[in-house]
Amino acid sequence: MFNPLRINRASYFALVAFVALVCCFIPKAYAKNLPALKCVHEQAASLGLIQKPNDDQFSEQTIKAADLISTRFEQLKNLRSITSDNAIAWCRELGLIDEKLKEFWPSKTGAKFEYIFSKQLNPGQQLAIQNALLFAFRYFSSLDVELAGTVKIIASTDHFELAENLVDNSQYPISLAKATSIINRQCTGRGIGGFNAPGMIIICVNPRTYWRQVQVNLRMLLAHELSHEIQRQMTGYRPIAIDSEDDYLNEVGPLWLVEGSAIAFQFKALLPYVDVNEHISVFRSDVGGYSGEKLSKLIYADATSDREFPNYAALAGHLLAQRGEKHKGFLTYWTLLARENWQSAFTKAFGITPEAFYREFQ
Ligand SMILES: [Zn+2]
Repeated sequence: MFNPLRINRASYFALVAFVALVCCFIPKAYAKNLPALKCVHEQAASLGLIQKPNDDQFSEQTIKAADLISTRFEQLKNLRSITSDNAIAWCRELGLIDEKLKEFWPSKTGAKFEYIFSKQLNPGQQLAIQNALLFAFRYFSSLDVELAGTVKIIASTDHFELAENLVDNSQYPISLAKATSIINRQCTGRGIGGFNAPGMIIICVNPRTYWRQVQVNLRMLLAHELSHEIQRQMTGYRPIAIDSEDDYLNEVGPLWLVEGSAIAFQFKALLPYVDVNEHISVFRSDVGGYSGEKLSKLIYADATSDREFPNYAALAGHLLAQRGEKHKGFLTYWTLLARENWQSAFTKAFGITPEAFYREFQ
């Protein structure tokens, strides 16, 4: 059981282990992201900056639009150069500056959330997933987060059906074999699991799960995965597994921080009245000693293979959530990460350099 006032340690670590398995992003082959590009093209056209292109592929017109937009709006001047990957961040920020430009957000021209549920899920299960998503959405709304991109929620008990839906709905081409292997890895052996891919949250339900017991996990799962999706929409739909690990690190930030922020958010969403210090003291007392030097190495995709990765990410996330802006600091960090490298975004958002944070981390 999960008592929001007094956290039982065993359940605590079960929760962290749960999210560790549930984490992360999937790789891509080629970018498309037409809804986001369409948004930027239409926004620029409505400002009279360009003629709306005939199609919404990334083109010279997209680059011209971004140049003129950043000349017009001081706030967007430092955004990273537009690509089909980060067009969603451009589209979102333009809408936040000018309410009229928000009308072009894919989440306004179409659905905010699109549910793709298997027939094998009964109406009660479907409703529970929708409720958990609404719970997560309301939490992030309370932090003034607005999403420009539609989020597809794909849920099933059947791994093959999930893989097919992942392939059909992905903005990035992915083979069925690859999709199947990701789903088998993320979903096997658990009651309920899931992960975030660009514009999608995939939820796998074990048909033998006692449904009443998964309600808390569902809320936590959705808060966690929505956090990943928010990072993507604020900074760009970038892949995790890319040719250059340095590009990945520069654009997405270290993996311990990607996971740590999602974990800090999921705990805050679920347990709003538990002080962050209480989470910190549980992690500190139960895991004998942490090393900042080790944390500094948990940055690339292979970090998840380290058994201690979930605890490290969780403690680091909670420590950052305790600083100046509390949990909103992660949002500030992502806003800056859309503009600059992770180290300088981190330093400005949390008021400490990564090096100093690593030194303090123990
Ligand atoms: Zn995660």
